[in-house]
Amino acid sequence: MAERDPRAHGLWAASAPPAPEAPPLQGHHSVDVAIVGAGYTGLSAALHLAEGGASALVLEAMDIGHGGSGRNVGLVNAGLWLMPEALPERLGPVHGPRLLQRLGEGPSVVFDLIARHGIACEAVRQGTLHCAVGESGWRELGERARQWRALGAPVELLDAPAAARLIGTPAYRGALLDQRAGTLQPLAYARGLARAALAAGASLHARSPLAALRDEGTHWRLSTAQGATVHARWVLVASNAYSAPDGPWPALHEELVRFPYFNLATRPLDERERAAILPQRQGAWDTATVLSSFRLDAAGRLVFGSVGALRGAGRAIHTGWGRRALARLFPALRGVAFEHQWYGQIGMTGDALPRLHRLARGVWSFSGYNGRGIAPGTVFGREFARLVLGQQGEADMALPVTPPRAAPLRAAREAFYEFGARAAHLARARW
Ligand SMILES: Cc1cc2nc3c(=O)[nH]c(=O)nc-3n(C[C@H](O)[C@H](O)[C@H](O)COP(=O)(O)OP(=O)(O)OC[C@H]3O[C@@H](n4cnc5c(N)ncnc54)[C@H](O)[C@@H]3O)c2cc1C
Repeated sequence: MAERDPRAHGLWAASAPPAPEAPPLQGHHSVDVAIVGAGYTGLSAALHLAEGGASALVLEAMDIGHGGSGRNVGLVNAGLWLMPEALPERLGPVHGPRLLQRLGEGPSVVFDLIARHGIACEAVRQGTLHCAVGESGWRELGERARQWRALGAPVELLDAPAAARLIGTPAYRGALLDQRAGTLQPLAYARGLARAALAAGASLHARSPLAALRDEGTHWRLSTAQGATVHARWVLVASNAYSAPDGPWPALHEELVRFPYFNLATRPLDERERAAILPQRQGAWDTATVLSSFRLDAAGRLVFGSVGALRGAGRAIHTGWGRRALARLFPALRGVAFEHQWYGQIGMTGDALPRLHRLARGVWSFSGYNGRGIAPGTVFGREFARLVLGQQGEADMALPVTPPRAAPLRAAREAFYEFGARAAHLARARW
């Protein structure tokens, strides 16, 4: 995708406050920590490091929020896709409960940072609605509600009439309202984090792709594609699903299966439409295998998303499906045009768990958020800062440290997601 493609960041680029100055890196620099990637993970790390008194320098290959952080739906969720009880089962009795607790508090970390730094990013903390498709979706949400409630989480199961009132459609069997969650403007949040990190003393350089990394004994020497260099004792590789196959750590590219997801945004809805659709401004998504998500932005545009890439034949197939699906869910919006469309890549792991790697002495990475990255990225960036600042040890991290492992049949699975989503959206021609 061309870097200036309007289908990269769509509505979010059109409505976010401008990015702070982040000139390409020139010359030679020495810092405590070099960070690769200016998404939520890298920017949260830079902010918390600078606040803790460490010098941090961020290298971003493109622009702030170029990756998932500038393209997502903006649902600030607590926890992961996995059922809560799956975490202790998969991660054991130490990391399982710890990860649940830290990610359960994730939305509070995000909304508190937004408040503390005055980040203008359309933040709304009215909860999210996970909407049940049919009886199987309803059973899934019932189980999810039971598991969260056992942990004391403020979630509420809504029957069909109650869900219809909050969503604005009778199409769903019910919904799970999670009061911890909310929505924000994703690119505005990334730019706001960047501004806060700069104000705290971090350095930030866009258009400065890391090209090479050399071990110099006590330090690492990072070189950008333009020949600027950075000496750092610590390195955080926060390139996640946008890690290049030929980057300095190809293993980070190979461990994730990229899953395409697109968004379409309508014109601002009028007052009557807004009173009927998501009247309390929750963000919503559903339990379908090829899921859909929908939320309003501050101007009242409905942002409607699903699985697929808006490229090649996919563009017409997915936007055509989007028109039909929108009319089915909200008949009052039949015929409403989409003014913006964009898509990005979600990094999936085989067990739906994020990864923490020590790639070499002093070189760390977080990746694989499986479509849940706003709160986790912010929390994990802070975890890394705490590690560097000596506020927590490796044994206290939210995730166990594991080596990167290439995802089996990665390319085939990526093609399956992209072309499977096309087939699914074509097959639902009646929508
Ligand atoms: C369409 C879509 C919808 C989503 N919806 C949601 C949602 O509603 N809620 C939610 O919580 N999560 C959602 N996610 C997931 C979330 O956006 C990501 O998990 C999160 O943004 C990851 O943040 P990050 O900082 O780890 O990585 P990214 O934001 O992807 O940032 C990585 C950065 O690294 C840079 N980079 C790569 N290589 C180099 C290099 N060599 N040198 C320098 N820089 C480099 C990239 O340019 C990029 O800016 C969605 C993702 C997508 C794509």
